[in-house]
Amino acid sequence: MRLTCNKCGYDWEYKGKLLRPTCPSCKSTVNTKNRTGEPISEPQALIDEATHLIGVAAQRLTVLNELHNKIVPEHIHSKIDELRNDIKKIL
Ligand SMILES: [Zn+2]
Repeated sequence: MRLTCNKCGYDWEYKGKLLRPTCPSCKSTVNTKNRTGEPISEPQALIDEATHLIGVAAQRLTVLNELHNKIVPEHIHSKIDELRNDIKKIL
């Protein structure tokens, strides 16, 4: 998970399992708790990231659908269809 030290602002990718790891820069302890105060488990961080990525993909799909309805050259249309099918495979 991505951590940011609230003392010195250093941010780094933390792969350990401690709830209060030590900042590599200033050696102060950093909370890995989320806004609601619950500890963030690594699987939860991965689920959050996947949910975010799916959200981004869904937004792109919406943009592609809008583009499709506008007048664009034929070769762009087929490219948009390919992209849409690729995104649908992921979703
Ligand atoms: Zn620090």
